[in-house]
Amino acid sequence: MAPLIGAIEAGGTKFVLALARSDGTVLAETRIATRTPAECFPDIAAFFEQAGAAHGPIAAFGIGSFGPIDIDPASPGYGTFTTTPKPGWSGARYHDVLGRFGVPIAVDTDVNGAVLGEWESGAGQGCRTLAYTTVGTGIGTGVLRDGVSLMGFSHFESGHIPVPHDRAVDPYAGFCPYHGDCLEGLAAGPAIERRWGQSLSKLASPADKVDLIAGYVAQLAVSLILLHMPDRLIFGGGVMKTPGLIPALRKATEARLAGYIKAPQLDPGLERYIVGPGLGDEAGITGAVALGRRALTQPIRADYPA
Ligand code: ZN
Repeated sequence: MAPLIGAIEAGGTKFVLALARSDGTVLAETRIATRTPAECFPDIAAFFEQAGAAHGPIAAFGIGSFGPIDIDPASPGYGTFTTTPKPGWSGARYHDVLGRFGVPIAVDTDVNGAVLGEWESGAGQGCRTLAYTTVGTGIGTGVLRDGVSLMGFSHFESGHIPVPHDRAVDPYAGFCPYHGDCLEGLAAGPAIERRWGQSLSKLASPADKVDLIAGYVAQLAVSLILLHMPDRLIFGGGVMKTPGLIPALRKATEARLAGYIKAPQLDPGLERYIVGPGLGDEAGITGAVALGRRALTQPIRADYPA
């Protein structure tokens, strides 16, 4: 029987918790609202204790989480939230709640989990270099090369890249507490809600608002191409479900590239190049299971306190 993996997809509004076999078969799953760690951690412990009692001992945990979070396995703070403005989360560590199980814990960002899930069994199969971007409550990108997610001294923060902002066209100042009108400040879900009072899906026609957001996101798409030359770009998250947004993003990206990059990957119209997630909303939890599976076979720092 395949070993059991405890998987967590931790997002800004909800946590998805799952107990799965390492082959991906989900045995138990639940969702809890994202609150403070003092409120969430007991629910997480209770779920995995109950699921483990019902199905057998958990062999490893895989976590794809919002951040900023320390994802360097060589760091003593591996799995610890760093500078997040979310109340209570700065300094919280997944090992505090999962260390009691005494098994390996793999922690990565939500988008690094999702890009792994999409590479293994979704829209990124067969790609050597793959980028997965979420545009939802926040914006972030995971870049995978030969199945390994890339990072520097920390995970990437693609949501906070500066983007050209014509205030005559779009006077909204942006909501990022650090930068105001960075990409996330202008194009994430909260920016759309605060600027226009409703979600982009409700504003999809006429297309001018969709085109404005597509133009901002295209700056990231172009930057990803120029910096990483991925074989494919996957765009997921709540905002990307807006009808017409992915086609508008393809058009704006192709226009901005202006024919400079010639490669078979960049098909005319970018219909094969820029796509939605093949796993839909399951990309994150599928990736978390994959992270846990890797924790079974790859050494991960194990000196977490019990
Ligand atoms: Zn920012």
